Amino acid sequence: MSDSQVSLFTRIINSEIPADIVYEDDQCIVINDIAPQAPVHMLVIPRKPLARLVDAVKDDEMIMGHLLWVAGEVARMRGIENAFRLVINNGAGAGQTVFHLHLHVLGAKQFHETDLTTL
Ligand code: AMP
Repeated sequence: MSDSQVSLFTRIINSEIPADIVYEDDQCIVINDIAPQAPVHMLVIPRKPLARLVDAVKDDEMIMGHLLWVAGEVARMRGIENAFRLVINNGAGAGQTVFHLHLHVLGAKQFHETDLTTL
């Protein structure tokens, strides 16, 4: 893989770019979003550089489940376990800007059913 294909999040995982790390384990890291859309806005990022959700294969089932479990854990750590939202943007047309799979964990704001489409 050439340097230009290495994602921003892989550079963060490799400590080449600083980030505000909330949690890490052998499969993923969680960082605070640099441009938060809510008072709590974290990104759960697999160490495996899957570009988009749809690029996951059957063998990735365990890691995908792990990402969801970690999202709940960090939500609890930040005290938003009773009201948070998960968002995955898949593809540029859906607003994805960093092509390394990540789950947005958003909380500590008032959610409305109608703002499902805003992130
Ligand atoms: P998406 O638009 O779904 O691809 O989300 C990418 C997210 O990454 C955005 O919410 C950005 O604010 C966030 N982001 C970009 N660069 C950084 C960075 N260096 N550290 C933390 N978050 C970042």
